[in-house]
Amino acid sequence: MKCPKCGGRGRVTGTLNFGTTVQRYRRCPICDHRWKTWEEKDPAAVRAKKSVRKEPDLFSGKQEKAKG
Ligand SMILES: [Zn+2]
Repeated sequence: MKCPKCGGRGRVTGTLNFGTTVQRYRRCPICDHRWKTWEEKDPAAVRAKKSVRKEPDLFSGKQEKAKG
């Protein structure tokens, strides 16, 4: 994981578990910048987020002629 400040190589200093996600504490040894990242533990949890929604096709099919 690159340091967002200087682009150096950050190091993991700690990990916290939150169910399917883990929060990693990172520190850059070059500029001493500290930041956190979130990572998905289970790839199945990421897949579950995806939902397919079907749009009703209003414009396909026959068009009724106006009577009168
Ligand atoms: Zn840095």
